[in-house]
Amino acid sequence: MLRLYDTVHGEVRDLATRESGHLSMYVCGPTVYDLPHLGHGRFTLVWDVARRWFTFRGLDVRYVSNITDIDDNIINRAQREGSSETEVSATYENEWWKAMSAIGVARPDDIPHATQYVPEMVTLIESFLAQDIAYVISDGVYFDTSRVPDYGLLAGQPLDTLRAGARVDANDEKRSVWDFALWKFAKPGEPVWSASFGDGRPGWHTECVVMSLALLGDGFDLHCGGLDLKFPHHENERAQAEAARRPFAQHWGHNGWVMVGDEKMSKSLGNFTSLTDLLQHTDARAYRLLVIRSHYRSPIEVSPTTIADAERALGRLDALARRFDVPVLGGEQLVMASEYAFSGASADLVEKVGALLDEDLNTPLAVAVLFDAVSAANTLADQGEIGAGAELALAVTVLFGALGLSVFSAVHDSDDEVRALVSARDEARSVGNWGEADRLRDELVSRGWIVEDSTDGTRIRRG
Ligand SMILES: [Zn+2]
Repeated sequence: MLRLYDTVHGEVRDLATRESGHLSMYVCGPTVYDLPHLGHGRFTLVWDVARRWFTFRGLDVRYVSNITDIDDNIINRAQREGSSETEVSATYENEWWKAMSAIGVARPDDIPHATQYVPEMVTLIESFLAQDIAYVISDGVYFDTSRVPDYGLLAGQPLDTLRAGARVDANDEKRSVWDFALWKFAKPGEPVWSASFGDGRPGWHTECVVMSLALLGDGFDLHCGGLDLKFPHHENERAQAEAARRPFAQHWGHNGWVMVGDEKMSKSLGNFTSLTDLLQHTDARAYRLLVIRSHYRSPIEVSPTTIADAERALGRLDALARRFDVPVLGGEQLVMASEYAFSGASADLVEKVGALLDEDLNTPLAVAVLFDAVSAANTLADQGEIGAGAELALAVTVLFGALGLSVFSAVHDSDDEVRALVSARDEARSVGNWGEADRLRDELVSRGWIVEDSTDGTRIRRG
């Protein structure tokens, strides 16, 4: 049984699904007004890994993640740059999917855009107004949180203890400080949709409740996002579903923060501040490995040190891929356990790693076990048991593939000639032929590769 921490109950619980064999999940996506940052990279990797693992275990997963394409930040950027909101959101949505492809995040099954669901949002707001669950003030329509008896459930602590830090706007006209905008009346020069209660545009919290219920239906299984969305965004979604008497998500999952260290470290991060920049300087697999080496609910630290550390660990996987003929997995491909049959040590590995991941996605322990298996596969081959080593290497590849991490080196991505040069260089080094090793390195460098030596052999990556 798959088990996952549920934010509402504060404990790891069985992930019981509405329909046997099927899992519906909704992940709050980005607001597209700038390049994706490292926090975006983390949430999208964490839930991509979850989706992949649930799929590997045999669930038919329907994965929905939205794009917020109308919002204050988009409007501000368009006004600043003298472009339109549509141009800004199209530009940064494009950047978003480029980065997602680079880090190997599989496309969601549905990608609803807020602007596609405005009529549905207007209908919901009308029904709230008719029941006095919403009210109109000078700048928009607000939701009356006092109408939901358990409002604040997802905050996980009394609301008055949160007030100082929470992102709530104090507005004297509101009935309560916790009430939130369902609809903002149009200001001059802003995009506008017509509505019986006054033309304007939807507030952020309404789009996700409308789109998740429209696509996944009442009582869908799992709603996820970063910890920063737990309150108020997710609570406000839940409050609207409660008020509309629509059963909402049965299970809530939240991932931890990304830390970029202290002031000094932030400075030295330089180009690492956006995901797009990070990907230009590192093997894209390094960020996924860094993410899965920590538990998804713990904070992670992204720094030149932790990234370099992940890249070094990748060197061991690259060497495994060079030594054994393993398939290239990951990317858009979701791996399914039913496609493979393992026996002996490989079956034991699948069982051990499976048990760890089934229990609240314990990726750090699973990754540690997998790296032990990398060593074991090499030892077997060193001892002449090539077949046994290769089978274990395949199991490692399949399990990393189930987490979306390709156990293939950049060499696999390049042509046979480059691959041959790397192998020849490894061979030259193993027999102490340094002159030849240097010559082969120069040859690779002249073809645009950065060449690094590791204990497991030559590593190359694009500069
Ligand atoms: Zn959302």
